[in-house]
Amino acid sequence: MTEAQLPAPRPLGKVWFVGAGPGDPELITLKGQRLLAQAGAVLFAGSLVDQAVTLYAPAGCLVRDSKDMTLEQMSDWLAEQAARHATVVRLQTGDPGLYGALIEMTRPLTALGIDWAVVPGVSSAMASMAAAGESMTLPEVTQTVILTRVEGRTPMPEGEDLAALAAHRSTLCIFLSITLMHKIEAGLRAAGWPEDAPMLVVHKASWPGQERIVRGTLADIKQRCREAGIVSQAMVVASPTLGAADWETLARSKLYDPTFTHRFRKATA
Ligand code: SAH
Repeated sequence: MTEAQLPAPRPLGKVWFVGAGPGDPELITLKGQRLLAQAGAVLFAGSLVDQAVTLYAPAGCLVRDSKDMTLEQMSDWLAEQAARHATVVRLQTGDPGLYGALIEMTRPLTALGIDWAVVPGVSSAMASMAAAGESMTLPEVTQTVILTRVEGRTPMPEGEDLAALAAHRSTLCIFLSITLMHKIEAGLRAAGWPEDAPMLVVHKASWPGQERIVRGTLADIKQRCREAGIVSQAMVVASPTLGAADWETLARSKLYDPTFTHRFRKATA
C-alpha cells in the first residue's frame, strides 16, 4: 500500500472527563485519582484544580492548563493526545456536568470516533453546605434543591428566572453569580422571601486554608460579602434550612423516628 492508501492511525486512547471536586485535593474520587495517576496527558481547568494534578499525575505526564484555550482548541488537544496515550484526562472543577461545557467537548470526540466517559465529582454546592455544617433538605421544611445561576452573559432559558424558581421556597444553590448579588436579591424579593431570610456565601469551599464562610440575610448579605472582599469563586445559598442547627424545634426525619417502621427497622414506640 502507498502511504496515501494507509488508513488514518486509530486513536488508541480514551478521554476521561473527571470531576476534580471543589478544591481540596482529597475530595476527588478514588476513580478520578486512579485515572490521573495513569494519565499520559491532562488538560486541567485553571487554578481551581492544579493541586490535584500536581499531586496525582505521574512524572512525565503532559500537563496543560486550558485557561487560554477555546473549546475547539481543547477538543483538538484532547483528540491529539488520545492518538498518543491510552488515558487522557480532562480535569474539571466540581462535577463535570454542571456549567462545565461538557457536551461541547464530547461531541467533536464522538465525531472523530474517540471513546470518552465522565467521572462525577463533588460539586461546590455540596462542599459549600458541608463547609457551613448545613443540610440541603430538612423534613417539613424543604425536600428540594435547585442548582441555578442568575443571568450574566449566558442568557437564562424562559421560565428559569430566579423569581420563578424561588417561588418554590426550596434550597437554592446559586453558581457563577457572586458579582450579580443585586439580581439574586431582586429575584428572592420578587418571590416574596422576607428580608430576614437566612443566606450563606462560601468562598473557595474546601480549599485548605482559604475557605471563607459569610452568613447573613437577604437584607444584608451583599454588604457582608463586600466587607469580606468576596468577588469570585463563591457559592450563594438561599434556603429555609439555613441555621437549623440552632432552632428550638425541628421535625424529625421519619427514617430515624422510633415510631416509624420501615424495611430495616420495626417501630419501637
Ligand atoms: N462544575 C462546578 C461548577 C463550575 S462553575 C461544580 O460542580 O462545582 C464555577 C462556579 O462554581 C463558581 O462561580 C462558583 O459559584 C462555584 N464554585 C466552584 N468552586 C467553588 C468553591 N470551591 N467554593 C465555592 N464556589 C465554588
